[in-house]
Amino acid sequence: MSDTNDGLAFLPLGGTGEIGMNLNLYRLGSTWLAIDCGIGFSGNDTPEAEILMPDPVFIVERKADLAGLVITHAHEDHLGAVAHLWPRLGCPIYATPFAASVLRRKLGEAHLTQQVKIHVIAPGGAFNVGPFDLRFIPVTHSVPEAQAVVLRTPHGIIVHTGDWKFDPQPMVGPPTDVAAFEALGDEGVLAMVCDSTNVMTQGPSASEFDVRRSMTDLIGSLSGRIAVTCFASNVARIETIAKAAQAAGRSVVIVGRSLRNLDVSARECGYLADVPPFLSEQEANSLPDDEVVMIITGSQGEPRSALSRIASDSHPNISLGEGDTVIYSSRMIPGNEQAVMQVQDNLTRRGVRVLTDRDHLVHVSGHATGGDVRRLFDLVRPRFAVPVHGEWRHLTANAAIAREKGVLPILLEDGDILNLAPGAVEVVDTAPTGRLVLDGGRLLPMNGGVLAARRRMLFNGIVMGSFAVDDEGYLIGDPKVSAPGLLDPEDPETSRLTEEFGNALDEIPDELRRDDNTFREAAKTALRRALGRKLQKRPLVDVHLLRV
Ligand SMILES: [Zn+2]
Repeated sequence: MSDTNDGLAFLPLGGTGEIGMNLNLYRLGSTWLAIDCGIGFSGNDTPEAEILMPDPVFIVERKADLAGLVITHAHEDHLGAVAHLWPRLGCPIYATPFAASVLRRKLGEAHLTQQVKIHVIAPGGAFNVGPFDLRFIPVTHSVPEAQAVVLRTPHGIIVHTGDWKFDPQPMVGPPTDVAAFEALGDEGVLAMVCDSTNVMTQGPSASEFDVRRSMTDLIGSLSGRIAVTCFASNVARIETIAKAAQAAGRSVVIVGRSLRNLDVSARECGYLADVPPFLSEQEANSLPDDEVVMIITGSQGEPRSALSRIASDSHPNISLGEGDTVIYSSRMIPGNEQAVMQVQDNLTRRGVRVLTDRDHLVHVSGHATGGDVRRLFDLVRPRFAVPVHGEWRHLTANAAIAREKGVLPILLEDGDILNLAPGAVEVVDTAPTGRLVLDGGRLLPMNGGVLAARRRMLFNGIVMGSFAVDDEGYLIGDPKVSAPGLLDPEDPETSRLTEEFGNALDEIPDELRRDDNTFREAAKTALRRALGRKLQKRPLVDVHLLRV
């Protein structure tokens, strides 16, 4: 595909699959626009990696033509990678006040505040990024100020929904702007790129209003200490918990760093205005048990979160026990089940009662159900539908709804470049894709050599052989062998291995001893041979050659 034609194209780089890290690209002529830049949390199948993000190499190679990055909302899977990838992208960012506030804190932690230009766009606002004529449409989601993005191009209108749902009473922020979607439908929409996460749930979405009523009844009926865990960014839910606590005559304490950060961003943007300031966790201990509700991070079983530490009785300030209740006001993200169950089990062992959305209406999803998606198709009436953000069964279910509505669905894999105009709407090329892993402070390719070695060490251990030689390449002293994660230094097998490695080194022919590289390779082979098949494993093998 030429990068310089006058057409319009769409390219998802990371929204497909179990770990939905959203990074979407649009091309108009030769200019690119990015929408969202998120991280994903790895599941049990990649223990060597916790935080993942899409490899942006395709757009980094075209960064001179990248006009900007638009953020639809302040969730980690939509903006969590910005602070990590911005140094490679180097473009201006466009976001609503709340998303900008959340992003600024992350950029501050990465010492990027000065470099990054954030254009703050009001919800529903219109703005231009290079040749892209853009407008936000406010939608309801489980975070304030979520926006769909409308791209008005010479080739037609594209509606990029972002994450959204219908909720006539979202409690915080306006409901999804139905009239704006309908007006676009009247005008004619070329394609709608639509969130698929919750599309397999039938019927219309449940409302935050119902959660508020149910939570108020529940908290009013309980005695003892009450702790509620939910996502820190769900400001409507935090307001729901705070108001339910207020109605029961309880004060609200927030526990956990991400909640304290989000509280600052929310109040900075005018949210939680009629909720009294939250108390600190130190203040919680001076209150009688029946006069406190704690909002706590850790609904996904994150091991370092406040709730996990409370469950294992290792939290410095808060403890829960017999007669207390923990309410999970959240869903379990697939992959986290085991960790969440472990925390719930620890709590139960301490005598704490655990309540979830199976017991009471204490959570509703922020994502559009199948019913919501049907209704949006009726409003927008696009010619083409591009389901994104979900696993294949979600994308396929979304496509089925499109077909039912007379809209032609197009299913894309990450990296598929979809030509939208001129000519046929079809995949015309493929961009390189991949994942980067945040490893300490560095980004490493998931399929690169370092992590491949890490995986091998994790399962098979590592064997290191060290030896010193003179100018001629003859051994000085005894070699050393260590095998951390495989053999104890005191293990007799270690001394046997060391001895056999020494013998095998002696047998290396003279002509291989002159050059360090060939000598090292021969020594590695010698070490592998000494290791033999006794351990019935294939550990990573390396040697240190010292020429003295
Ligand atoms: Zn979201």
